[in-house]
Amino acid sequence: MKLLVALVCLLATTTAALADEPAKLPPTKDNLEARRAALVKKLDGQGFTVLVEAPFVVVGDEGPRMTAHRATGIMRWAIKLLEQDYFAKQPDKIIEVWLFANEKTYRKGAKKYFDDTPTTPYGYYSSAHDAMVMNIGPGAGTLTHELVHPYMEANFPNVPSWFNEGLASLYERPSEKANHIIGLPNWRLPNLKRELKAKTLPPMTTLLASTRDGFYEADYDAYAYARYLMQYLQEKGKLRAFYKAFLADKQDPTGQAALEAVLGEKLATFEPTWRAWALALQSDNR
Ligand SMILES: [Zn+2]
Repeated sequence: MKLLVALVCLLATTTAALADEPAKLPPTKDNLEARRAALVKKLDGQGFTVLVEAPFVVVGDEGPRMTAHRATGIMRWAIKLLEQDYFAKQPDKIIEVWLFANEKTYRKGAKKYFDDTPTTPYGYYSSAHDAMVMNIGPGAGTLTHELVHPYMEANFPNVPSWFNEGLASLYERPSEKANHIIGLPNWRLPNLKRELKAKTLPPMTTLLASTRDGFYEADYDAYAYARYLMQYLQEKGKLRAFYKAFLADKQDPTGQAALEAVLGEKLATFEPTWRAWALALQSDNR
């Protein structure tokens, strides 16, 4: 049975770019302003607010005040802390962040402006269209999740899906502690626990070695598995060290070697520890 867990995701890379899409340009001040002006012209009279929040251009249908509030609030905050903790490079192209008020306008906009039919009610990052397209109605967690993807693309081009989605999913419920962005336990936990109890989660080596399709089409909750591995590393103060070690490791594309190095033990002994920790973890499921 395929679980309905891939609620926030990357759109398939096979999606073709539209013929009239703007050229890929670095997000300099002038280029961002030019894109903003072009979008204002293109979307004239259609109820959108367009503004620059470097290195992105934000397009919102919630009105000028709310769109500005999202851009200068949660988005500016997340960009600053993600860059500080993980990402030395900004995306090398302008990426548009489309914030729709609800699922209805999100689906309609995805179709109209990108010819996409989203597989998720929340949002996606399309590398082909250089755009994040999301339903911001349920909350800003989708935005902080999706922000991770273009930064991963710029900084860790060969990142496996499990780590890309694991880190992005961690920040679906973002908070701040000692000037760092953190993720709190969230709605993915109950399903993880269910799978742990039912013993349907494969060995951790399977998650780490998963291909793109193996991750996105897994018959287990791969998002929750990856997310709570990240949560564990965060709680032990080892997440940023793991990111650095994994990024630097040119030998092991799965991340297992980096993980074992940071943990100071082999997966064979770590995995039972992690499983027991996850089963005992509490969440109010938001
Ligand atoms: Zn994602």
